[in-house]
Amino acid sequence: MEINTPTLGGRVVAAAVAAGALATTAGVVNGWGAVDQPLNSMATNMDLAAKIAGSTAAAQPRQQTVHVIKPGLEAAKLVRAQQLDAGQHVDQAIRFAQDGYSARQAEIQRKADADAAEKARIAAEEAAKRPKVVKPAEGSFTSGFGGRWGTTHYGVDIANSIGTPIVSAMDGTVIEAGPASGFGLWVRVQHADGTVTVYGHVNEIIANAGTQVKAGDLIATIGNRGQSTGPHLHFEVWLNGSQKIDPQGWLAERGITL
Ligand SMILES: [Zn+2]
Repeated sequence: MEINTPTLGGRVVAAAVAAGALATTAGVVNGWGAVDQPLNSMATNMDLAAKIAGSTAAAQPRQQTVHVIKPGLEAAKLVRAQQLDAGQHVDQAIRFAQDGYSARQAEIQRKADADAAEKARIAAEEAAKRPKVVKPAEGSFTSGFGGRWGTTHYGVDIANSIGTPIVSAMDGTVIEAGPASGFGLWVRVQHADGTVTVYGHVNEIIANAGTQVKAGDLIATIGNRGQSTGPHLHFEVWLNGSQKIDPQGWLAERGITL
């Protein structure tokens, strides 16, 4: 094929080539050896090619290919394609939702961890500030440790009205709470260093045996039970659980004055 029109642009040349190819496919080459006029558009050549192809088809009707359109099938294909597309959208939505859920769960977990850490920090801070040893009861110091009335008084007495709170002098575990000879009712608390503190003549037991207590926790109330001459707390300190020492000195060493 040769082009003898100098004004033809590249696009039109391409169209002419395409039209020629189409015509060749249709089996018609005669008369297409040269293009001697400008070709304005692809459509023009397509129409021409179709006419030629049509005339060839008319000559050989048995070779004509017919594409039968079945609307139902086409619609079904379309629906299936849309379903696939919709399915992909649903999958994507679920994936995004799951990603979002995971992210939220991770964020919730991070917050919970941070809260727990903060609570632990506050608890540690409060534990550090909390006194290690406290006065076991408020009241009047009425009797000290040592010889008294021809015998030995193994504790200190703090007088106050019946029902006045008695608290554990240190952190520890209540190891006994109940009747005791001479004390009426007593409570004994064992501490981490092996020391046992004793609270006698109590009116009411609040913390029973086995209870874990902190310094300052209510364990009993002041009473007048047993060999007592008036409502008071009889308080003893047993080093290593057996050696009875002067509670006043023990408390004083720990910053508590009676
Ligand atoms: Zn006493």
